[in-house]
Amino acid sequence: MNLDFQEKEFRQYTEQAVSIYFDWLKHLRGSKIYHNYTPAQIQERFNETLPEEETPMESLLASVGSDVFEMSNFNPSPNYYGYITGGGNQVGMLAEFLKAGLNQNNLKWHNAPANSEMEKIVIKWLCQFMGYPDDSAGVLVSGGSEGNFLHLAVMRKVMGPASLSEKGLYGQKPMTVYVSNQGHSSFDKAMDLLGMGKEYLRKIPVDDQFQVRVDLMEEAVQKDLNEGLLPIGVIGIAGSTNNGAIDKLNELATLAKKYKLWYMVDAAYGGPAAGTAVAGHLFRGMSEADAVLVNPHKWLYVPFQVAAVIVRKKEHLKNTFSLVPDYLRGGSKKTEREDLMDLTLQLTKDFKALKVWMTFKAYGAKKLRLAIENDIAVVRYFQGLVNASEDFEMLGPANLSIATFRYVSENDGIKSNQARVDAVNERILELIEEDGRIFFAGTRIDNRPALRINCNNYRRTKADIDFLLMVLRELGEKALLRSV
Ligand SMILES: *Cc1c(COP(=O)(O)O)cnc(C)c1O
Repeated sequence: MNLDFQEKEFRQYTEQAVSIYFDWLKHLRGSKIYHNYTPAQIQERFNETLPEEETPMESLLASVGSDVFEMSNFNPSPNYYGYITGGGNQVGMLAEFLKAGLNQNNLKWHNAPANSEMEKIVIKWLCQFMGYPDDSAGVLVSGGSEGNFLHLAVMRKVMGPASLSEKGLYGQKPMTVYVSNQGHSSFDKAMDLLGMGKEYLRKIPVDDQFQVRVDLMEEAVQKDLNEGLLPIGVIGIAGSTNNGAIDKLNELATLAKKYKLWYMVDAAYGGPAAGTAVAGHLFRGMSEADAVLVNPHKWLYVPFQVAAVIVRKKEHLKNTFSLVPDYLRGGSKKTEREDLMDLTLQLTKDFKALKVWMTFKAYGAKKLRLAIENDIAVVRYFQGLVNASEDFEMLGPANLSIATFRYVSENDGIKSNQARVDAVNERILELIEEDGRIFFAGTRIDNRPALRINCNNYRRTKADIDFLLMVLRELGEKALLRSV
């Protein structure tokens, strides 16, 4: 049964797909970017019994254009300030299209030769972009959560008991890991799933800049040593998810050296800013880490999904992940051929390197740095407006592309009434979804509701920030009226 189209037909569908994309993209500004449909409304649009018969491609694509696009969130819009989302880029779109055509499975070198080599080059370029030693090794994975899981697996393997792979963790000293209380939740998940236990992830308090208290971290290490536990590693955060805080990475490097601990830096979000003139100095010390995580699908604007797990020494990945059964022994024994399956958890893995490689090539590192610097400038502009205003207040530094803040209108003197301020800000978050012109989700700062914007999108300008504040003021007034 042939499933392929004639070339002419296929070209026609491709053109139709391009039109769908641009019909949508022209609403980048000035229309609703969120439609607030209910799950039932969405189900109603797509749910039918399994189609046994063919659907003509033209009408299928048309319905993708009308239904799928309309019912999706407009994440590439500059009015989207939601979860850390790079907004994608069009070179990456083309790469994804071609990747699907090539359909490489890079488990073994001989199955995906160009892919296997390109992945190494992309890792090297990422290191060069961030100022991390470029003789490091790495592997591309689905995202930061998988990346942190792999990083902790490596830390556990390198630093844990030698019998770990065969005997498991039974009867062993608990291993402890240290991270700021701003660390990403994927570390808790990884500690749980790797059998190390969430309790043994020591979450260390931060100072008023949201940087981990290195002195308290050292005390925690000493306490665990005294109690006979096995400290294995220190994690530095280079761009916290909540507000972009960057730990004092060089002090953490010193601490890790002093106690002979593994040192990993979670630069999933912030890493690319290390390559910029305006923020580079904040990352001093990252280059001393044993391992780094960075997500090109965040601040390098590459379409989802791709994160890079990078370690200084390749054998650390290999020792952790290589396991070769008989049916995968085929192919040449040539040692210069490296199989990506030896470096990670996945066996079948797609050609993620292409979209990163093409992004670097098409735009060049210079332009990408300028885009990142623009994002930082946009947030600083926002911060300036908020600081100068009477009705908003910042809730911490905005070093990178994230700002956390709160609506504190003086209109009816709510500033002095904490509970009311909290209620109004929670109400604003609901109103944002009902309104649909802008989009973001809230967070909590010091256990109180907070507003939070992410600005990783090269399409954004200062005028968009003016629009954001205008909409927020409107919604804030409404929220004041409705919450009593
Ligand atoms: C986003 C983020 C992660 C998780 O990455 P995903 O790709 O969303 O799984 C991990 N660490 C930090 C610091 C992040 O900002």
